[in-house]
Order: sequence, then structure tokens, then C-alpha cells
Amino acid sequence: FRIRLLLQKVEQTLHQNEGSFGGQVTINDVFGHVAGDHVLCVVAGILKDSVGIKDYIARVGGDEFAIAVVRADALGAAERIAQRIIAACKESIVYDDKELRFGASIGIALTDQADTADLMENADIALYDAKAAGRNRYALFSPELREIAEEKKRLADALLKGLADNQICPHFQPQVAASDGAFVGLEALARWRHPVMGMVSPGVFLPVAEELGLLGEIDEVILCKSLEMAKRLKENGVNIPKVSVNVSYRRLKCNALLKRLEQMRPWPCRLAFELLETIDFDQDADSFAWILDGLRHLGVEIELDDFGSGRASITTLLRLRPDRIKIDRQLVAAVDSEVPGAHPLIKAIGEMGKSIGIQMTAEGIESPVQARVLSRLGCDVFQGFLYSKPLSEPDLVQWIKEHGASCVPGIAGRPLS
Ligand code: C2E
Ligand code: CA
Ligand code: CA
Repeated sequence: FRIRLLLQKVEQTLHQNEGSFGGQVTINDVFGHVAGDHVLCVVAGILKDSVGIKDYIARVGGDEFAIAVVRADALGAAERIAQRIIAACKESIVYDDKELRFGASIGIALTDQADTADLMENADIALYDAKAAGRNRYALFSPELREIAEEKKRLADALLKGLADNQICPHFQPQVAASDGAFVGLEALARWRHPVMGMVSPGVFLPVAEELGLLGEIDEVILCKSLEMAKRLKENGVNIPKVSVNVSYRRLKCNALLKRLEQMRPWPCRLAFELLETIDFDQDADSFAWILDGLRHLGVEIELDDFGSGRASITTLLRLRPDRIKIDRQLVAAVDSEVPGAHPLIKAIGEMGKSIGIQMTAEGIESPVQARVLSRLGCDVFQGFLYSKPLSEPDLVQWIKEHGASCVPGIAGRPLS
């Protein structure tokens, strides 16, 4: 288990300085409330030892503390205090023969006015920035940070409205067989059709969705709409062999997932879940195993996304036993550049996969050279701008019609009308 106590913010003013810390007390959940209380006492001790005699410390929430530093050199003092706290909180402690780990994130805000109304909020904004940069950091508030935070808030509000107004929809990127270019499936990719901003890419709105806890909901929308599209096309004689959807950790852990998939039966085509390589499958391995078994039982194929970019290990592969791995775009891009080792690495991944019956998809293919090399290295399926960008439903239908000739029955399903 990884246990952390996030110490949240330190606010500071020339006249007054407040800070707050927060422990995301998973320690409570894992080791019980007595252990959690013990950690809080340890943290309180660290805070006391880190501040000066005239500074103030308050616990403002379950896992949040605030420190007020009222000194002439408040900014310098706050930074020194933050560094001390972060260093001390990195040290694990032993409680009841168990090692407990936690960390601190700190936001610092400064004011030289008596009016401190915005101070907590500013420290919150700085804290947010510190957390976004990684754990165990501190950040100083600045007006630019506030602008970014306000812009994010606007985007978050718009996204909530967009979801309610049915503005989130999938685009579809075709996948073709490496052997003969047959159309073998597609990846559904989320898009946000905003009435003013136009088409917003997932790189912009998914991080916001994640923070709002909406990723699971977006995944559900994309899955439903993709299956509806495949059904509609099938009724019009256009066969989609397989739809792959991206599935976030949150969605995967959603209790109702398997039931929802049952409710959507009969599926109009094969269905694959793309799981990000960055999901830590080793954590909580038992519950993952249960979900993955359930998915397999329902006939959902598993694809391990962005393989080669993150942390997935051979153990992950063995445990997950995906049907397919998707070679990450960066590795594909390295194929026709001078990056040494890319070819042997891809070949080794392919051979390892083949030895345990896993297929290999290469994504982000942009040049015929990449396609040729990757085919030689053992990739089975290709996806990338060389074949098509992600397409709206009407454009997909057009693409399929134009590429119908290269569809081979048995691989791609029925050639298209
Ligand atoms: P991904 O799953 O790795 O998706 C592939 C991304 O690569 C897509 O970006 C696609 O447009 C882009 N791409 C495909 N071929 C090429 C190529 O030849 N060259 C280049 N330069 N790019 C190519 P997109 O649509 O912006 O999606 C970005 C990421 O957002 C996806 O990366 C995926 O992780 C995430 N995402 C998209 N839709 C969903 C969704 O419905 N749910 C979840 N959880 N994540 C999604
Ligand atoms: Ca993907
Ligand atoms: Ca990918």
C-alpha cells in the first residue's frame, strides 16, 4: 500500500501568515483511525518544530492545516518553513510495527494588507499548482496562477454544461491489418463540440474532466455512442469489425461497469477496452483481476495502450494477458528517426507478445517507411494519420466506402456496400 498524508497549504503575509495542511488520510482506511490520529500528531509535531515562536498553526480540516507567519521577512521565512516541513514529512514513521509514509504539498500566499479576505483562496490556488507539479513541493501564489485557475474554472463549468447538453461525442480512427490493409476496427476518441470554441481536443478537456471526477462519465458516453454508431451502420449494411474505447481507471473501477455492458447487449461488433499502461495494475491487483475476468467473460477484448511509454512490466503483461498491446506513438516515431535501439526494442516486444499469444498494434503511423519497418518487426495492426485521422461518423462512412476494396472478408468482415 502507498499511504500518504498531503500537507496542504501555507499562507503567509507580511502581517499575517496562515497555512494549511491536508492529509488524504488513506492511512485511516488502511491502518485504522488510531493510526491516522497518530500520524496527525506526528505532523502537528513537525509543524511545531518547523515554525517560529511567533507563528500560528491551525488545523482547518481533516487533513488540512494552516500556518500564519507574521514577520518582516515573511516570504523568506515561509519558504524555509515549507522546505523544513516537506523534508520532515518525507521521512516514514513506524507505528505498531508498520511503516507509514506520507508527504506534504504546500501553497504560499503573501499579503501586505490588513485585509486578508483572499489569502486562503490564494494559498489554495498556489497549493493546487504545487500538487500539479508533483508531490512534496511548495508553490508561491501569483496573479498569473489566479488567471489560470479562473480559466480552468470557466472550462470546468462549460464542460459540465457540455456533458449535460450532449456536446461530447466520439470521433473514430480506423485501424487496418498490416498484412493487406484491410479495415479491422477503429478507436473511438472523445471530442467536445463546443458551440463557440468549436472542436475541443481531449488533451484540453480530459485533464479538467479528471479533476472534476467526470472521466468515467465521459468514457460511458463514448462507449454508448460508439456502439450506437456501429449499430446504425450495420443496419445500413456497413460492417464495423471492432470498436476500441479508452477506459480510465475510474471507469474500470466503477461497480456498475459489467452490468452496464450487459445492458448494452447485443453489441453490434467486437468490443475492446484500451487500458492505459500507466494504470498501476499491481496496486489493488485482486480487484483488477476480478474486473478483468468479468470483462473477458463478457467477451470484451483487452488492449494495453501506449505500451513502451510508461511503467508496464513483464509481470503486468503476464497478469493482464491483454489480447493486444498498442506500441506507443513515440516509439513508432523513433522507427524512422535515428533513435538507436528502437527497432530491436519493438522486435523484442513483438516476440515476447507472440510467445504468449498477444498481438501488436502500432499507433501514430505517419509514413510508409514506418509501416514497412513495423510490419517487418511483427506488428499486426496499424493506426495513424497515414491511413486516416480520427473521423466524424459521416466521414468514417465515406472512408470505409473508399477503402472497401481493400477489405478482405474474414479479416475485415463483409466488404462494404
Ligand atoms: P491515445 O489513446 O493514445 O489516442 C491516440 C491519439 O493519437 C489520438 O489523439 C489520435 O488523434 C492521435 N493520433 C492518431 N494517429 C496519429 C498520428 O499518426 N500522428 C499523430 N501525431 N497523432 C496521432 P487524441 O484524439 O487527441 O486523444 C488523446 C488522448 O486522449 C488519447 O490518447 C487517450 O489517452 C485520451 N482519450 C481520448 N478519448 C478518450 C476517451 O473517450 N476516454 C478516455 N479515458 N481517454 C480518452
Ligand atoms: Ca487509446
Ligand atoms: Ca495510445
